[in-house]
Amino acid sequence: MRYTLIGISLLLGFVFLSGCMHQVPVLSQQSEQSTHIEGVAEKPVEFVKLGTGVWMHTGYKVVPPWGNIRTNGLIIERGDYSVLVDTAWNDAQTAEIVAWAKDTLQKPIRASIHTHAHSDKMGGMDALHMLGVETFATDLTNRLAIERGLMPAKNVLNISEIGSQIEWEGLTILYPGGGHSEDNIVVNEGVNNILFGGCMIRPGMTTSLGNIDDANLGYWSKAVENAANAFPDSQIVIPSHGKPAGREILKNTAYIARPKLD
Ligand SMILES: [Zn+2]
Repeated sequence: MRYTLIGISLLLGFVFLSGCMHQVPVLSQQSEQSTHIEGVAEKPVEFVKLGTGVWMHTGYKVVPPWGNIRTNGLIIERGDYSVLVDTAWNDAQTAEIVAWAKDTLQKPIRASIHTHAHSDKMGGMDALHMLGVETFATDLTNRLAIERGLMPAKNVLNISEIGSQIEWEGLTILYPGGGHSEDNIVVNEGVNNILFGGCMIRPGMTTSLGNIDDANLGYWSKAVENAANAFPDSQIVIPSHGKPAGREILKNTAYIARPKLD
């Protein structure tokens, strides 16, 4: 909670300094909807080094009845700046991530990409825009973001065919087809061979697909195989909602997501 308050005060401090109070970002729907669990405090934002110049950021949201639910993204160093993969749950947490890259890493975040249109990936877009980050998402993600009440990215990543890839800031972006959401993309960092699977890849050996409200249950398993086949050398796999793991979580997700015959 202490860190969240620091994040909010940083954000408000920025707004105050920039003298445009009318641009106070509306804290995301999610943070307003966060419901309270007696005795459970929201955990602070965490940063973990995954490899040379690659960091994982993790923000938490208290969701009854489960408690703190994590969401992971990446920070990748690029010379004297860094780039971001996904926001945290809300503006305050995302402002903390931006401040950490600037103050601790000494590599301010210049640009970001967002792996699909849900609040755990785009809940902090207003903070990024206020802090001068150039945001990128696919055309489909931006359209779905508007439909789902989220702020879209300012720039479009030109990728729409299943299996197509583009290079962006030294990273390889793949559209594997619809899975957790029709627009989910994955990001491969080829220096350390780290595959960021986002919400399309389920953590650990879970048997649950998590939130399937916007899922493509007919294609999810194939989409995971497409991502696994596109990056055969990547041995570290990052899901949104669990710990970094190996390629076994690709296999497990493809297995639990396979279409059910009824
Ligand atoms: Zn999602």
